[in-house]
Amino acid sequence: MITEALPYGVFSVGGAAPRVGVRVRDGVVDLAAALGDEVFARPTLNAFLAQGPRRWAEIRSRITELDTPPTYPLTDVALHLPVEVADYVDFYASEEHASNLGRLFRPNSAPLLPNWRHLPVGYHGRAGTVVVSGTEVVRPCGQLATSEGPVFGPSRRLDIEAELGFVVGVGGARIPPDAFAEHVFGVVVVNDWSARDIQSWEYVPLGPFLGKSFATSISPWVTPLAALDAARIAAPTRDPEPLPYLRGAEPWGLDIDFTVSWNGQLVSRPPYAGMYWTPAQMLAHLTANGAAARTGDLFASGTVSGPARDQRGSFLELTWNGAEPVEIGGEPRSFLADGDEVTIAATAPGPDGTRIDLGEVRGRILPA
Ligand code: CA
Repeated sequence: MITEALPYGVFSVGGAAPRVGVRVRDGVVDLAAALGDEVFARPTLNAFLAQGPRRWAEIRSRITELDTPPTYPLTDVALHLPVEVADYVDFYASEEHASNLGRLFRPNSAPLLPNWRHLPVGYHGRAGTVVVSGTEVVRPCGQLATSEGPVFGPSRRLDIEAELGFVVGVGGARIPPDAFAEHVFGVVVVNDWSARDIQSWEYVPLGPFLGKSFATSISPWVTPLAALDAARIAAPTRDPEPLPYLRGAEPWGLDIDFTVSWNGQLVSRPPYAGMYWTPAQMLAHLTANGAAARTGDLFASGTVSGPARDQRGSFLELTWNGAEPVEIGGEPRSFLADGDEVTIAATAPGPDGTRIDLGEVRGRILPA
């Protein structure tokens, strides 16, 4: 009997076509072969995701009953983008992160803008540049403000954002918070690469654009919500009470711990547990105007930052916009250099006091 997270991904062996697998310990179970179901012979999870929560539960149960399923060692497989991403949205749900950015960029006003406690602030991103962990990221070019006016060139302030992403299985409009698990299949670890110099010049007044859209990396494994029962906690108290469409009885806070490593050196441990807005509220807000979510939609939480310095989920915050560099490989550093590699990993409480591994998202910076 298997009691593990059983995350889903898309893998290939040798030159064979990519298909759906489930990770069990250090192996990948070939689901199409194990279950004789063509839905798993496809190069993305989308067709399975669209089948809905009853089917997800049935398959999870069948996997735990497999005796000696056809399995490949993890070291022998190539992992691919698990989902054909339909629409991509990024939120801003950490009060610590939003407050830190307010302090850094608007030092003479309140850290949070007036709307922040009333709605989960977000923006629509670029689905086509979501890439799987391990994909190298080319340093983006863009307009950079200088004292002599804007110039065009490679970003000098390339950063990361440690986030949790949510994968929509079944679409729909005006999804109430308590229907979250009817629609969302599972979670991925996200790195929302961010070019701070491009971002700070372009973002007024319409928000993030080219400083974000060059690449967003996700873990190859999608951990089903069904594996996160032991991680579910109440969200922090919201004051003021959100409007009725953002209220729900189900606890969708998540006790997930992140680690951020910069060239192999652990620099931060952001805790997801303190996030102000839950993913159920994010989905409710995302669909509240009648715009339907679709199978394969990805929405991310926004940077996960805790109250302590070593819990900040971006280098912008960790180094306080370069004022307090961190030592990486013996050198004071604030932003990413060419050749740098960042790995963001996450774990959560599992059944019976165990911990489950949500996998990692890794990326290396190539020169512009
Ligand atoms: Ca972000």
